[in-house]
Amino acid sequence: MAIKVALAGNPNSGKTTLFNTLTGSNQYVGNWPGVTVEKVEGKLKGNRDVTFIDLPGIYSLSPYSMEEVVSRNYLIDERPDVILNIIDGTNLERNLFLSTQLVELGIPVVAAINMMDVVHRNGDTIDTARLAKELGCHVVEISALKGTGVHEAAEAAMNAAGGAKTVPHHHFSGGVEHTLAHIEEAVLHHMPQERQRFFAIKLFERDAKIIEKLGLTPSQVAHIEEDIKRREAELEDDSESIITAERYTYIDSVIKDCVVFKNKGRLSVSDKIDRVVTNRFLALPIFAAVMFIVYFVSVTTVGMWVTNWANETLFGKTVPAAAEAFLTSAGCAEWLQSLIIDGMIAGVGSVLGFVPQLLILFIFLAFLEGCGYMARIAFILDRIFRKFGLSGKSFIPILIGTGCGVPGIMASRTIESERDRKMTIITTTFIPCAAKLPIIALIAGALFGGAWWVAPSAYFVGITAILCSGIILKKTKLFSDDAAPFLMELPAYHWPAIGNVLRSMWERAWSFIKKAGTVILLASVVVWFASGFGWEDGAFGMVDAEDSILAVIGGAIAWIFAPLGWGNWQSAVAAFTGLIAKENIVGTFGVLYGFAEVAGDGTEVWGALAASFTALSAYSFLVFNLLCAPCVAAVGAIRREMRSAKWFWFAIGYQCVFAYIVSLCVYQLGMMFTGSFGISTIIAILLAGLFIWMLFRSKKGCGRGCDRCSCHTVSTQQKDA
Ligand code: GDP
Ligand code: MG
Repeated sequence: MAIKVALAGNPNSGKTTLFNTLTGSNQYVGNWPGVTVEKVEGKLKGNRDVTFIDLPGIYSLSPYSMEEVVSRNYLIDERPDVILNIIDGTNLERNLFLSTQLVELGIPVVAAINMMDVVHRNGDTIDTARLAKELGCHVVEISALKGTGVHEAAEAAMNAAGGAKTVPHHHFSGGVEHTLAHIEEAVLHHMPQERQRFFAIKLFERDAKIIEKLGLTPSQVAHIEEDIKRREAELEDDSESIITAERYTYIDSVIKDCVVFKNKGRLSVSDKIDRVVTNRFLALPIFAAVMFIVYFVSVTTVGMWVTNWANETLFGKTVPAAAEAFLTSAGCAEWLQSLIIDGMIAGVGSVLGFVPQLLILFIFLAFLEGCGYMARIAFILDRIFRKFGLSGKSFIPILIGTGCGVPGIMASRTIESERDRKMTIITTTFIPCAAKLPIIALIAGALFGGAWWVAPSAYFVGITAILCSGIILKKTKLFSDDAAPFLMELPAYHWPAIGNVLRSMWERAWSFIKKAGTVILLASVVVWFASGFGWEDGAFGMVDAEDSILAVIGGAIAWIFAPLGWGNWQSAVAAFTGLIAKENIVGTFGVLYGFAEVAGDGTEVWGALAASFTALSAYSFLVFNLLCAPCVAAVGAIRREMRSAKWFWFAIGYQCVFAYIVSLCVYQLGMMFTGSFGISTIIAILLAGLFIWMLFRSKKGCGRGCDRCSCHTVSTQQKDA
């Protein structure tokens, strides 16, 4: 018999960790809420009949954001055979809020109290037998991380599946119960008995989506509305708050009965760390210092040494020389030799050379995520992001976007406000993703002698672009939505599991390597072919690069980029192949400028590239490619997440125009200092002026006293209260 077990619980309660242990999958685990935004299925190891569904974390069955809708709809529409409710044992009060609702669904529920290793370490005890009695469902203690109790939990879930439906043991106050009974009788009697209670409560709370789902007629709604109003008048509160308050009263009593805290009232280690790390004055300097160390080690020093070696020695000399020796001795045709060395090795090698650097960077990021510091950054930055019309939660997509824009864009689903979400989708890819790092490193190495400031400046450009876009867009009509408060739980600090750190590092690096072996390889071959062949005197064949197909195409579009300072056909082509995958820019230069030429005489392999740029035009090239439309994969993600053609084109158009204007200003205004002045300079000055005006103009049409635009940061506790 096939069994479907849904893993439901608060964000960050350990669902994915348990899911990975039980199914042997490799889903992404991070110490912050919102990592799982889509449901994922997996089969139990050793029993293919049992399917586990890892749902996005939810705080309640009243959804606020999109991924909460995913979870709720799954539970009420698909009705799994059993719900395995993962509860963070260190945060029972908040987690039980969801549990009290799950048991109302009329589905068998098994509660797994997770993080028991931490609970024990804190010296607290939980009376699970008593808890089981009060909740009305089976309760097991587990540690998903350490692997204790997980098989018992799976077994308990399998045993409960198909058995008796869990019946809630708590009751609301007399009056509320009376109204619920009335609602059940008036509009829900056609449903199976055990499912009525959940819907009755939701109708009492006036849940619009549920009213719609049930297809109630206006007269039915009016009928129950009368009853609800009466109850609200009697209890002097709105119906949703009545239910919430009564749930918390009940939870308080359960906790009093079942839990003994050893250090009640004392600050935990996490709280102590937070006192320093999220301190009003220290937070930002600490954040800046941490980020500086990360990039200093991974991008500018250790990472750079390894990458330089890989680029100049390994893929610059050793591999091509060995390949040449081998191919020559094998009597390989000259064109094939050229294809392999000048096409494949040059293109793929120039991209693979950056892997060591990325590995070091990813280890750092994985560690910061795993230990819980990243969640604090979102919290710290919320204070600042608000001022720019963004939510602190935009930071998580941006952070994930430093690895790859695709999951970054997907992570925008955790943002409740539609306005903030769209804004985040549009701006997330401004931050340099892993694929853009090689471009940065290439420009830094070839044109700036590996100067330490180039890489940080790229992130600075990305962040500034995001913040400026926030301000500019917020002032347009399109984005004048209500600002949503910041709701995110700060997880306790802990040492991340080495396995998770390595997995996260490897996942990001592997997708990079995979691309090098597929898309980049193919593109390198195409670029090699297109740059080596063409028409000369009416005949098709091998030609000099200047007469090649690619030169013709590149030459035809190069005028577009001439005002940005890089109007040669090679750069135009590179910017174009960058739309397939950003690493292609490096790969394309690799082929076009022959990085892999065996430089026996010690000539600088990046010299050819350096010769066709000035420092200024190279920086303008970098800025344009950082900010313009991302690669096709990310463009596809934007299309999916926008769910509207109009918004999709707006996003892509905005990115390209924004990139063009910024690069134009960088180059033309920079050139002014060298004494050059022309029509483009005037245009650039005008555009820069327009840009500044867009930034500082006052917002029109906001005559509502403006408290809706101001900063509200509330703690998560208030979300349900
Ligand atoms: P989800 O959001 O519910 O899917 O939670 P995750 O599985 O992503 O886990 C959130 C964080 O809690 C991660 O950093 C895990 O390593 C950590 N974690 C999960 N289970 C345990 C546990 O049993 N003990 C401890 N100490 N940490 C855990
Ligand atoms: Mg998860």
